[in-house]
Amino acid sequence: MKELRIIFRTIEKYRMVEEGDVIYVAVSGGKDSAAALFGLCEYVKQHRINARIKAFHIDLSGGKAENVLKAVEKQAELCSAELRVFDVRKELGKDFIKKIRDSRRAVCSVCGVIKRYFMNKIPREEGAKKLATGHCASDFALFFLKNLAGKKFDWIAKFKPFLESEHVKLIAKIRPLFFTTEIETEKICKEYGIPFVKTEKCALLEELKCEHGKTTLLLKNCIKEIDVKNREFLRALVSGVEKLVSEIKPAEKEGEFKECRICGEPTSSEICAFCKIFKGAKQPNFS
Ligand code: AMP
Ligand code: ZN
Repeated sequence: MKELRIIFRTIEKYRMVEEGDVIYVAVSGGKDSAAALFGLCEYVKQHRINARIKAFHIDLSGGKAENVLKAVEKQAELCSAELRVFDVRKELGKDFIKKIRDSRRAVCSVCGVIKRYFMNKIPREEGAKKLATGHCASDFALFFLKNLAGKKFDWIAKFKPFLESEHVKLIAKIRPLFFTTEIETEKICKEYGIPFVKTEKCALLEELKCEHGKTTLLLKNCIKEIDVKNREFLRALVSGVEKLVSEIKPAEKEGEFKECRICGEPTSSEICAFCKIFKGAKQPNFS
């Protein structure tokens, strides 16, 4: 299938999988990460590579999102991959929602902090060297436009199919769907009978208000239309972003990553964003 071949070519070109690798694939229940898991597992099987691919799901719902949990179970089963579900509410206790509210940060941004934190910490602690995500060409096109407008060039510099580790405690990120669009991930799921959740409802929505910005929605719709009418342009756009990123010299930043003074996880400030929200660490006193 053409769409699967694009994923294989990406895995190959960027040497995403090597003998002896332990790779965790972050699965949300949606079609993109399901296609990433399937693509990686098929690649390893067809090329007879001795690598372990494990599905990893972060449950923010406390077990309530049964449809999502069922979908990730079936996705892993179909690929004969082990599944690791991490229960955030069990880890953070019953004050979890209160702490998010007290942080006064947008729910989506807290959700991002939680996912990024555990997507790095748990796989690393369990021996993985790489984390694969289902971020696809449609996502990178959207992120690129948003970050270009916001002049956040540091973020754009991370838009690579293979993001090497920048700190001993940061695992490398691989994006096998870098050149694959959203319509294509859906095609793959349909072709191979991979179940997925259509609209991933935010797991915090019942307790907290969660809204996507209007600009994000506008851009998402535009990108979807390009995907339908001129998919190769979308591929050319992310390919251009990749070339741009590979040609810009990273800004010399001293000690970009340090270890959080509370939890020891990698962070660019004294205390990581996660501890600021969940460990009540707004005014630390280290004297
Ligand atoms: P999103 O930011 O929701 O578009 O998700 C981007 C990527 O992050 C997905 O393709 C998954 O690889 C990963 N991801 C999102 N939510 C979860 C989750 N709850 N558990 C594990 N991985 C996730
Ligand atoms: Zn911390």
